[in-house]
Amino acid sequence: MSNPIDRRSWSRRQWMSWATGAGAAAVAMWRVPALAQGSTPPPVPKEITPDAALDLLAKGNQRFVEGKTLAPNRNMARLKEVAPKQAPFAAFLGCADSRVPIEIVFDQGFGDVFVTRIAGNVADPAIIGSLEFGCLVLGAKVLYVLGHSSCGAVAATLKGDAMPGQISTLYQHIRPAVKVSQGSLDTAIRENVKHQASVLAEASTVLAGLLKDGKLKVAGGVYDLQSGKVAPVAL
Ligand SMILES: [Zn+2]
Repeated sequence: MSNPIDRRSWSRRQWMSWATGAGAAAVAMWRVPALAQGSTPPPVPKEITPDAALDLLAKGNQRFVEGKTLAPNRNMARLKEVAPKQAPFAAFLGCADSRVPIEIVFDQGFGDVFVTRIAGNVADPAIIGSLEFGCLVLGAKVLYVLGHSSCGAVAATLKGDAMPGQISTLYQHIRPAVKVSQGSLDTAIRENVKHQASVLAEASTVLAGLLKDGKLKVAGGVYDLQSGKVAPVAL
């Protein structure tokens, strides 16, 4: 599936097969966003690469921070367009924190991003399986780990306090980052992004294969609760 696909040579049957998911692994189709009235459309690539996908996210967050959101693909037409099938261009591992809604902070809409959220943005087995589905089956080109400032899960792990129920089961996933943080919450948050990204890239043979073939790129960032800005984290 690494060869470029000549759409003109595809039969209707092949396209139907692709559309129902059988051949979606390698190709994420870019859809023209439905733009707010009077807004300027962003450039729309015909077939998106991992780097182009990352660029779309960076531009979306920039629009959000500058108060120039287009809120693309958030209407009934788009809803109906993606109802039969989805091809999100990016997959996310973000924190469950109510202040970090992925679609809003990256200015995306229906069908654009495949999002998993869990306290502390930790890559546990169910999350890894979900992201494997988003990247291998649905064809997301970027796998983005997003931490955020003042993350309660990372702060709790740093303190190591006993918590009721199963809350402290999150600690085991965040401890490797805390160990190299020298007691700094901000450092622990950044290190946690790096650690979870490495877990995804190394613990999953499915994701490792996509990365090796250049079909996927792993990226990381930290969202600032005060400014709305996502600062990239070098992995
Ligand atoms: Zn958090």
